[in-house]
Amino acid sequence: MSDGHHDFDALLASTRATLTRISSEFTPAVFASSLAAEDMVLTDLILRNKLPIGIFSLETGRLHAETLGMIERIKQVYGYDIALHRPEPAAVDAYVQQHGLNAFYDSVDMRKECCRIRKVEPLKRALAGNQAWVTGQRRAQSSTRAELAIEEHDAAHGMTKFNPLADWSEDDVWHYIRSNAVPYNPLHDKGYPSIGCEPCTRAIQPGEDVRAGRWWWENPDTKECGLHLVDGKLIRIKQMSA
Ligand code: SF4
Repeated sequence: MSDGHHDFDALLASTRATLTRISSEFTPAVFASSLAAEDMVLTDLILRNKLPIGIFSLETGRLHAETLGMIERIKQVYGYDIALHRPEPAAVDAYVQQHGLNAFYDSVDMRKECCRIRKVEPLKRALAGNQAWVTGQRRAQSSTRAELAIEEHDAAHGMTKFNPLADWSEDDVWHYIRSNAVPYNPLHDKGYPSIGCEPCTRAIQPGEDVRAGRWWWENPDTKECGLHLVDGKLIRIKQMSA
């Protein structure tokens, strides 16, 4: 957490330095944007400073209309076209025909297979040929990200991975967005801290771990927050009203 604007200025200067270093030492480099608040901070820093880092999103076919709307907003505000990487249509068709459109609610394996087809494989294609990739992940987002470094070796993709906002708090993100009038995903004003596929993302209660908004049915601890399971099937999802 940074306290006050002096610390924030130092944090921002260090983040700018990271992005400048990526631009000069890792060519080509790409930024994987999920079109959430953190991603908009990086988008603004990259596009305002005309850094040679390409920006792409994984268009899984299951995104919220609000998230898809951000692609148009970015074009209006910055004159930039986000590159979209989509899943292989044949793989999606085979999954849906064999298991059903929403089979990811049935088991962790079915969820992973859907993510593999709609996100993992397209990500691999999007990253191919790059020296480095950039994400908007922050350490404070959850305990599973407690070890997140600004720079790490991504063995799975065989390149360097940068998380320039690793040290940023949620307040830092919103301070940047408000001070620079950066456009942001309207889902954040409806209680969504984390942006993902529409059927796999929900609003959370104040104080809940931000990751509780994703694949919540896989976590038994969240049952009292409105998740109802009958014979292992999700029958009702209670969402916070806006
Ligand atoms: S987040 Fe959900 S809909 Fe999106 S790819 Fe993963 S399982 Fe499929």
